[in-house]
Amino acid sequence: MKEMQHVLSELVIERVGFGIFVLDRDLNVVMWNRFMQDHSGKTAEQVIGKPIFVSFPELPRAWLTRKVESVFQLGSFAFSSWEQRPYLFKFDHDRPITGGVDYMQQDCTFMPLTREREVMAVCVTISDVTHASMMQRSRDDAVTQLQQFADRDGLTGIANRRYFELRLRDEFARWQRYGGEMSMLLFDLDHFKAINDKFGHLVGDTVLRVMAERVAKAVRAQDLFGRFGGEEFVLLLPCTALAEAMVVAEKVRIAICQTPIDVNGTPVPVSASVGGASARLDITSSYEALINEADAALYTAKRQGRNRSVGFA
Ligand code: GH3
Ligand code: MG
Ligand code: MG
Repeated sequence: MKEMQHVLSELVIERVGFGIFVLDRDLNVVMWNRFMQDHSGKTAEQVIGKPIFVSFPELPRAWLTRKVESVFQLGSFAFSSWEQRPYLFKFDHDRPITGGVDYMQQDCTFMPLTREREVMAVCVTISDVTHASMMQRSRDDAVTQLQQFADRDGLTGIANRRYFELRLRDEFARWQRYGGEMSMLLFDLDHFKAINDKFGHLVGDTVLRVMAERVAKAVRAQDLFGRFGGEEFVLLLPCTALAEAMVVAEKVRIAICQTPIDVNGTPVPVSASVGGASARLDITSSYEALINEADAALYTAKRQGRNRSVGFA
């Protein structure tokens, strides 16, 4: 009976679908199962009796030594997941589509083999988690992509209002803490209702899209550009004083009105009015106050005849 059990144990260790090997205190290999043979291309005869680094010099020596030594010292299990270290051995994986995965992704356990309270050896198991890791990676990618969609305006692809306000809140808190300069430009297309009425709503949409592209090209990468409402847009200019911001305002205004927007061969003239404001120490108490000042300046620009930029005074 005992003999039978022994034979069965040996068979299981040989046939099981994950790697099992045993290391002694000097990191000599004392056992090496079939999975390890099949994936490493090295037989038990070739590796047993030698330090593992002799057979596999590419292994992360310091890391593996530390891991095994800690199991010898503490007598407890250790674990390493593919998320911490994607693989221990450079084994090929059997996935047809690699999805950026170069080698078989591995979870490893380090198990103390104890006799009379003394750790005699450490048994290491290697599981192939390539499939699970790829699923996890594609889920992570999908979440990142969804996050980006959630932050963008569907028509123009720039930041939507929700995301803009989130970033504005952060920037404003930073400004309150560290000071410096910070300006905002709010702009609204002139007589846009008339453009919709004359050319149709779809043309109006194209105008908004092209206009956003022009503005995005005209400003710096660190400026935050968002769609605030229908045909109202906002630019947050960190580290920028009002005078400088009004130079940007003119640049934006000119980028919008310089040439009519071509929509399927029809030139659509378009212009915008811009209001600018800057955060001031001891006066600007909230980011909403900054928006209100930019809005007031925008209103002045509209009243003064449109297609112009006005700074809040
Ligand atoms: P003003 O110079 O005073 O800004 O005049 P306006 O006609 O642009 O002002 P108003 O705010 O009254 O009109 C804005 C128009 O923008 C009304 C609305 O139908 C249109 N609009 C808002 N969002 C969109 C959109 O996504 N696509 C299109 N095509 N039109 C939009
Ligand atoms: Mg308008
Ligand atoms: Mg408007």
